[in-house]
Amino acid sequence: MNKPARILTFKCKKCAKPVQVFLQKVSACSHIQPYQGICKCGELHRHATGQADAVTSFINSADSDWSHHH
Ligand SMILES: [Zn+2]
Repeated sequence: MNKPARILTFKCKKCAKPVQVFLQKVSACSHIQPYQGICKCGELHRHATGQADAVTSFINSADSDWSHHH
C-alpha cells in the first residue's frame, strides 16, 4: 500500500482557485486517510481515500471533529 500524500491540491468548487487539503491525524487505522482544508474563500474541502464506507461517512459528515470508529 502506498504511503498517502500529506498534502493534496484540489480546485475549489466555489471560486475555482486551487485549495490545499491536508492529511488529518484523526484516523489511527488504515481504513481511511482523511484530508481536509479550507479555501481562501471560506469553502471547506474534504477528500478521503481508503475503505469505501468510511470515506463516504467522512465526506458526508458535517461534523468538524469527525473521527473513525470501529
Ligand atoms: Zn474557494
